Amino acid sequence: MGSNTEYLSKNDISAILRAADEIIAEGGRTLLAKILKGSREKKVLALELDACPVYGYYKSEKLEKIMEKIDWMIDYDFLDIQYSGKLPMIVFTDRGWEIERDFRADEFLAEWSRWQKEGRPIPDMNYLKDRDRKMILLFIRKVRETGDKRYIPYLEAWNKIEYKKVQAEIKETINALDSDEPIDLNGALKRNASLQEALKGSAPQDLFIKCWECGNRFTFTVGEQKIYKQKGFSDPKRCEECRLEQKLIGEYL
Ligand SMILES: [Zn+2]
Repeated sequence: MGSNTEYLSKNDISAILRAADEIIAEGGRTLLAKILKGSREKKVLALELDACPVYGYYKSEKLEKIMEKIDWMIDYDFLDIQYSGKLPMIVFTDRGWEIERDFRADEFLAEWSRWQKEGRPIPDMNYLKDRDRKMILLFIRKVRETGDKRYIPYLEAWNKIEYKKVQAEIKETINALDSDEPIDLNGALKRNASLQEALKGSAPQDLFIKCWECGNRFTFTVGEQKIYKQKGFSDPKRCEECRLEQKLIGEYL
């Protein structure tokens, strides 16, 4: 595992999270590393992962080096492994998703801004439907915070195809933009502070778990945590003595 990897920068963290977004719960560490490497492998191309904005982000690095960075992301609680049958899949942790959600909403906004400048006709808005609700509401919030009336036609087109709850937010945003509502940036400032906090990550720590059987506390070390995670085990519930005792009783019976 990548314990030697130095601290990753905010750009690195967000790039790895962006790539992970393409394969969440559907691909493992190797596939994630291949997106970042810019691999031309059949599977990567068949899944159109070469269209991801961070495809080839680490094109000059060796695959194993990229894997180390991914392991660092797992160790520092940005990504996690979840087993789908026997296959270990990459998933977001809460912290990882909080960051990725924010960047993803920015990406959508940057896209609208570009389309608007290029004078492109309004696209089929179905691409925004059925996405993570929190991320979509954040995106609408960010549109509102631009105070830019030129986004109203996009919002109107989107409103036609959305679900009721999202529609209510879209309508409110249209009204706010239309009426030149003063922009309230307090929410944005708070979000940014929380985002910066999340980006710090936290070093892996030993856990002190209370034993279900005897009530004593025992140490579940960082090293043990890694092994458990790799094998897809959940955290231990009993201390070593109690586990041993249970095993002996089991053998005796
Ligand atoms: Zn015990």
